[in-house]
Amino acid sequence: MSADRLCVEHVGFEYRSSPHGPGPPIRSPAADFSWDGGVSVLQAVLNGSRPADAHPALPVLARHLARDAREVAELGITSVHVHPRGPDTQETLDPLYVGDTVAAIRAQVPGMEIGVATGRWIQPDPRKRIEAVLAWGHLGVGKPDVCSVNVHEKGWVEVCNAARSVGIGVELGVWTSGDAVTLRTTGLPAGTVRVLAESTVSDPETAVAEGVRILRALGSLPVPVLLHGEEAGAWNVLEYAMQRSLDTRIGFEDVLVTPKGWLATGNDHLVKLALATRV
Ligand SMILES: [Zn+2]
Repeated sequence: MSADRLCVEHVGFEYRSSPHGPGPPIRSPAADFSWDGGVSVLQAVLNGSRPADAHPALPVLARHLARDAREVAELGITSVHVHPRGPDTQETLDPLYVGDTVAAIRAQVPGMEIGVATGRWIQPDPRKRIEAVLAWGHLGVGKPDVCSVNVHEKGWVEVCNAARSVGIGVELGVWTSGDAVTLRTTGLPAGTVRVLAESTVSDPETAVAEGVRILRALGSLPVPVLLHGEEAGAWNVLEYAMQRSLDTRIGFEDVLVTPKGWLATGNDHLVKLALATRV
């Protein structure tokens, strides 16, 4: 399923505008390499790997993820990324729980693009990751639209191939410029819907620079690039991405606090602040 892209007119902001008034076109080092499809996606990342007690409003159960997905959909979000959990609140690739989570979200927001994680930390054995992804293909309404696959993980190409074989798109996670080189060397697997340029540097002063390094190393790609940071680097990287009309993301997976350092009240709060960034 291809989700509608978040349309800037619907949410009243314009990525390309500047709070300082119109100026010359942005010519950053990254701009030459960025995807320029016109309309940018703001994805909501609802929980990530955070422990259940990381925040009182962190969605862990399927129904809570579905509630948050509906709330961000009402703000114009068309793509969510979640880490499904088992009854013990731990992350899982088990088709039973992945299917329950995706189906619960789909019931609340049928048009939403729903993505899930496949990280090595959830299932270290690549063969078991592949088995899980293949099983997701039979989940019907519980089948994810896309799954994220990290380029630095052993077996990543095979996991991508498994996803493609069952009609699940792939978001390729690129954490470093070295990963970007790996991707360029290997080539983009068929079925890739976007590349995630993930600045994992949490120092706000260097998080953007790290993101730019990854973008440069990725070079020109035939699919959109979604650039994001995390923790103290999240807001700086989001602002940078929005200024350059790159896709980006926000939510409790990446950050628990507002740009001013206050604890956010929920995923919808973070999304509202992200959308307000470029007003
Ligand atoms: Zn994730």
